Amino acid sequence: MCECGCSMGGPDYRFAGPSGYWYGIRIYGGCRNCDAPAGVDVFKMDGDQYRQFDGKHIPLLEFNGGMASLAVLHPRQLIDAANRDGLEIDEDAYGEGEVADIITSAVSAAKGFYDREREEYKKRIKKESSNGKA
Ligand SMILES: [Zn+2]
Repeated sequence: MCECGCSMGGPDYRFAGPSGYWYGIRIYGGCRNCDAPAGVDVFKMDGDQYRQFDGKHIPLLEFNGGMASLAVLHPRQLIDAANRDGLEIDEDAYGEGEVADIITSAVSAAKGFYDREREEYKKRIKKESSNGKA
C-alpha cells in the first residue's frame, strides 16, 4: 500500500484491551505522496503481534476516570505556528473558543475535501474497471 514508508512503524501509545488483546494508537500525519489523509490509526494486537511490535517499549496510555486523553495539537502550538507564519492569531483568542473554532473549521473543511476526493476516486476506479471488462 504505502510506497514511501510513511506508514511504517508501530503505535505511539498502547493500552490493554479485553481477552488478552492490546490496542495501539498511532497519530498519522497523512502523506501527499501516498495520497493518504491524516488521522488516528488503531491497532488491535494479539500476543504475537504485540511482541512483534516490541510492545513493552510503547508508552502506556494512562486512563483517568475511564478516559485517556491524547494530545495531538495544543492551541498554544497552533497560535505560535500561525503567528510565526504571519497569520497573526490574536493571543487573547486563546481560551475563548476562537482557536477551537479555527481547528474545527479546518478539520471540517479537510474532511469535506477528503470525502469528495474519495467519491471521485471510487467513480474513477469503477469507470476504469468497467472499461477494462468491455
Ligand atoms: Zn507515504
